[in-house]
Amino acid sequence: MNSARLRNTNVVVDLGALRHNIRAQKAALPAGSHIFGVVKADAYGNGMTQVAHVLSEEGVAGFCVALLDEGFTLRNAGLQETILVLGITPVQYAPLAAENGISLTVGSVDWLKEYQQVAQTNHVRQPLKVHLGLDTGMGRIGFQDVTEFKQALQLVQTPEFEFEGIFTHFATVDSADKTYFEHQLTKWKQFLAVVDHRPRYVHMANSATGLWHQQDIESNTVRMGISLYGCNPSGRELQPSFELQPVTSLITHATFVKKLHRGESVSYGATYTAQQDEWVATLPVGYADGYRRELTGYHVLVNGQVCDILGRICMDQMMIRLPHQMPVGTEAVLLGRSGDQEITATDLADQLGTINYEVLTGFGDRLARKYI
Ligand code: PLP
Repeated sequence: MNSARLRNTNVVVDLGALRHNIRAQKAALPAGSHIFGVVKADAYGNGMTQVAHVLSEEGVAGFCVALLDEGFTLRNAGLQETILVLGITPVQYAPLAAENGISLTVGSVDWLKEYQQVAQTNHVRQPLKVHLGLDTGMGRIGFQDVTEFKQALQLVQTPEFEFEGIFTHFATVDSADKTYFEHQLTKWKQFLAVVDHRPRYVHMANSATGLWHQQDIESNTVRMGISLYGCNPSGRELQPSFELQPVTSLITHATFVKKLHRGESVSYGATYTAQQDEWVATLPVGYADGYRRELTGYHVLVNGQVCDILGRICMDQMMIRLPHQMPVGTEAVLLGRSGDQEITATDLADQLGTINYEVLTGFGDRLARKYI
């Protein structure tokens, strides 16, 4: 991958805001709670190892990733904390996890039995750290029934395993309606009731659960993702009781400025035609960077002023209307703050009909991350 450094366009990551967000949430959690920083998908687009090092300084107990490869990226970067792979890892790769102390999610007895075979065949010496994932209603991965779960509890006592955690994931905690959450919580408690010796990490909370269902948390660890990056997990439906500071901005600089004359058009399809003479800047960002084509018709910020995007967004470039002539090199904020104006990930998500998570994780690898 070509992370472009010679380009004057950056995803700017505010590490001070990241620290603020984890400290504010930690202060609101019951004393002694552990935090797992969710850093999968390149820390939601913010750069996995850089973010993880800061979270490590802030005292997280561990990190959650989606893939074993992501776990290796963290280990190779020197992070010593627990690393939990949240997805199901193909069993043939699991010995590598055992040998490197990376914890895996397990959601079936079959997987555990297969791993026993693989571990014996490969003479794996270290026990594999496992977290048993419980499907209490998310419908994605994990044990659904208590009988199979009890079998798993037996199996994880064998020498091939170290039973490190147990967890579930909620489907509706970002919404005001608690009905489905309560149904899941009841199932979670039914599962917990058959665990004689609780493992080190018992976790049910993502950001939204930590923010809005704290009184119901029956666990000792929170998996904190989007809220670390300063975004509201509910979009706009619920409000945190304290400020989350946006971590991520997308900032570029004009590469070309021209006067567009009345009657002249801009970009593919010539869908925009100037009604009068106006100043237009070309920005070197496009949909190949994750600034999606559906944002055609939206706006960016220049010197604290809202500037409309003109015509279609191209793969690598886009055009905006300037309030007056400005030099090449003028800064444009596509996500973030400029003067009194701000474009948040939730604003972009609303425009796109998606969620702030997808906006952040969509910024491509060829945008270099800049840390402030
Ligand atoms: N836990 C699991 C199992 C997840 O899949 C995710 C994110 O997708 C998280 C925690 C973090 O969620 P959030 O970013 O809403 O805090």
